Amino acid sequence: MQLLDNLNWLKDFKERFDKDVSLLLKKEPLWEKCRNCPDGYCCGHDIYPVTMSYLNPFRLEEWWLMLEYVKDNFTEGQKKQLVRNILSKRPDCIFLFGNRCSVHPARAWACRVHPYTISFHPSPDYFPVGKLALPSCPSLAPAFGVKRDEMLVQSPGVLSREEGGRLVQVKLKKRKPVWLLDASNYVKEFESRAPSEERTAAEWEALLDLAGKAGSKGGIALQLYLEQMQGLKRQPDGSIRF
Ligand code: SF4
Ligand code: SF4
Repeated sequence: MQLLDNLNWLKDFKERFDKDVSLLLKKEPLWEKCRNCPDGYCCGHDIYPVTMSYLNPFRLEEWWLMLEYVKDNFTEGQKKQLVRNILSKRPDCIFLFGNRCSVHPARAWACRVHPYTISFHPSPDYFPVGKLALPSCPSLAPAFGVKRDEMLVQSPGVLSREEGGRLVQVKLKKRKPVWLLDASNYVKEFESRAPSEERTAAEWEALLDLAGKAGSKGGIALQLYLEQMQGLKRQPDGSIRF
């Protein structure tokens, strides 16, 4: 069953990625500031929409893992908050509660890579190749000389690379060298696992069913959000088209 295989692979993929991030956090004290996010800026303002785009071949699996998390961990109060977030049609991610991610352990891979990851992979399809988006959150903006509400993208030069590892030290304009995680191999793996065909209606139906269970009374709102934001179109006969 491809969906199950993909879910297992994606969970393992994220765990491996997170281990590399923890090595990076030990090496580069600057990123400690991000671990105490005071703002949630990355998750708002339409910058990093959790829905991602059609460029993400695993959007179904990403949603699946987050909805499973919601179903198994959210209180009724949190589910109500999620519905309020959806109905408000705000530009922020629907899972951002205050300035915190409410699905943090299950968040999408796209959410995990920012702000300390860079890819040197030649394909620009899934990741900003060779570029680093410098965040303008209150924690990190002063370190990067970035103004509030500004997203600065730089192409840093590599100064050194940890042997056998994925940590690279780069030079950014107007700041000291900083250690990052080179995500090139992760991007290659992500691409190599990407399903070549569009998902079946049955798989999307299963996702909508999970949304119904995860949302409790607000399941309908979650289902509608998925249908509208993911471009799923339900036909009068009940089938799904893309
Ligand atoms: S970069 Fe800033 S806004 Fe984004 S998660 Fe880190 S501390 Fe929070
Ligand atoms: S899922 Fe969490 S980390 Fe990702 S954009 Fe939403 S609030 Fe932010």
